[in-house]
Amino acid sequence: EFALLNEEIIDRSQAKVDIEDRGYQFGDGVYEVIRVYNGKMFTLTEHLKRFADSAESIGISLPFTSLKLSEMLEELTEKNNLQTGNIYMQVTRGTAPRNHLFPTGNVTPTLVAYTINGVRPLENLKSGVKTILTEDIRWLRCDIKSLNLLGNLLAKQKASEQGCFEAIQHRGQEVTEGSSSNIFMVKNGTVITHESNHLILKGITKDVILDLCFKNNIPVQERTFSLTELEEAEEVFLSSTTAEVMPVIEIDGKKIRSGIPGHLTRKLQDLFEKEIEKQCGA
Ligand code: PLP
Repeated sequence: EFALLNEEIIDRSQAKVDIEDRGYQFGDGVYEVIRVYNGKMFTLTEHLKRFADSAESIGISLPFTSLKLSEMLEELTEKNNLQTGNIYMQVTRGTAPRNHLFPTGNVTPTLVAYTINGVRPLENLKSGVKTILTEDIRWLRCDIKSLNLLGNLLAKQKASEQGCFEAIQHRGQEVTEGSSSNIFMVKNGTVITHESNHLILKGITKDVILDLCFKNNIPVQERTFSLTELEEAEEVFLSSTTAEVMPVIEIDGKKIRSGIPGHLTRKLQDLFEKEIEKQCGA
């Protein structure tokens, strides 16, 4: 197995980072997870753009252009012979004596990427998943794909301890997003999901789904929705790079309608699969 460390693709076991790396000490960095189907990266351009945007929003300048980065990721995918799985990539502000202040002088960011084999979650995609509700206790810049994930981890752990796949977070009455996914509901045949602002991550899968809705005349709205609306929803699903279009069949032990994946959810799953085929020929 190979990993990318700064500009080099090296043996994974040789890829080491200093104990004073700011990612390790402060979570001072950003990351991306890119899905690979059939050996090809899905929505790569969008991930590279969000990576650059996240880095820029916290004042980290990427050591490479997006073009160079895409070439290195492609080389990594090939060298690891990755067919279906994920690429994990992160950049931190670099290594410097521990200090809350950003280091001055010639500190270069630390960039790391490696690959993980992983099949599509076909069983869950078919049957749907259970979820819980939990108050969103995170900070107010959830639009940055930051390494600081404690709030998300606590939410996901709580869900898992209750036998659930995901935690749906809300700020008071307002539903925001999952711990590692975006949340959609269907009301009167319209697909509704939180607008992409500072309270949620602008999911790349979310944007693919919005686009599929527009192109296929499925009514869709980006707006905040309440817990009450969620409770009364005709359908609920979540989206992420790894979970794709994932039906939600239960929230806090209560079934959504008859407790089986909804009709629009199924339709969007089909359209999403066609998009995978189109981009990756898988
Ligand atoms: N929201 C959060 C908090 C996430 O961590 C993720 C990704 O894992 C998403 C939403 C979905 O984003 P994407 O579709 O780009 O994977």
